[in-house]
Amino acid sequence: MRNLRRPNANDATGTFNRSRNAVPMSGLCTRCIDGCKGGCEVWLASFRGREVLYPQPFGKITAGADKDYPVDYSHLNIQGYARGAKGLEGEAGPDKAIFSNVDTTTEYGWEKKVKMLLPIFTGALGSTKIARRNWEHFAVGAAISGITIVCGENVCGVDPELELDSKGKVKKSPEMDRRIEIYRRFHEGYGEILVQMNVEDRRLGVAEYIANKHNLETIELKWGQGAKSIGGEIKVKTIERAIELKKRGYIVLPDPENPAIREAYKGGGIKEFERHSRLGFVSKESFMEEVDRLKRIGFKRITLKTGAYSAVELAM
Ligand code: SF4
Repeated sequence: MRNLRRPNANDATGTFNRSRNAVPMSGLCTRCIDGCKGGCEVWLASFRGREVLYPQPFGKITAGADKDYPVDYSHLNIQGYARGAKGLEGEAGPDKAIFSNVDTTTEYGWEKKVKMLLPIFTGALGSTKIARRNWEHFAVGAAISGITIVCGENVCGVDPELELDSKGKVKKSPEMDRRIEIYRRFHEGYGEILVQMNVEDRRLGVAEYIANKHNLETIELKWGQGAKSIGGEIKVKTIERAIELKKRGYIVLPDPENPAIREAYKGGGIKEFERHSRLGFVSKESFMEEVDRLKRIGFKRITLKTGAYSAVELAM
């Protein structure tokens, strides 16, 4: 089978091959020249290291995977028909079977249901800058379309205005408040806003905050990210912000409290820091206990987001 994606150069990382020809397996130019001025990923990584891991410009883009699978949705066709119609009351005919009459409503939830005008949940919009900047558009669009919007993880944890109580739990998160208020202002009775919770959110008491202050009824537990077995991450530009996030319990790389890193930051060698969140590890017992705890807090519906894991996790 041929290579499904040529490595070492991609618009997502702003990199390219100097040469027209590249080795399919490594993506290196067939003539890799001493003194090359750019710009493949190997070239960039040799002096900016791990920064190449991130799509650029970070915080302003949404990157998609361009792996060219041999089979994809474009190989499917919707088969039309000209005899009869399903889902309409009475006899179908040309005046009745028109597309705007299609009923796309649905509902979810075991006991307390949420009605939707369309069976759509948004992707989770979490603590990234791109999600924060575009929240208003998504929230208003979701609210008036009658679909459910998913507020992603870490929103309280990276909120610059976050206030914690003496036990380190969320007392006030203006960013979370803003997100919920915008959605509710335009909500027309269909769909809802739900919030995801990862390891750090649990430690910060996000579930208690959104239940007690906002009476949200649905929360989403996370076993991982959709396509990758690592937690969510963002970048921050200043060492002060990096230290603040480390103090709130996040993994921050490189360590902003390491004297050598401080020196490198002062000298301009290090220009940004990564904030990583942890992956939740699961067992059946701990999962059931957490579900019970969330129900006691007041949630009516608990959803689960899992990664592309093996049959062992799926069987749970
Ligand atoms: S360093 Fe330059 S010549 Fe070598 S593979 Fe990268 S782009 Fe090509």
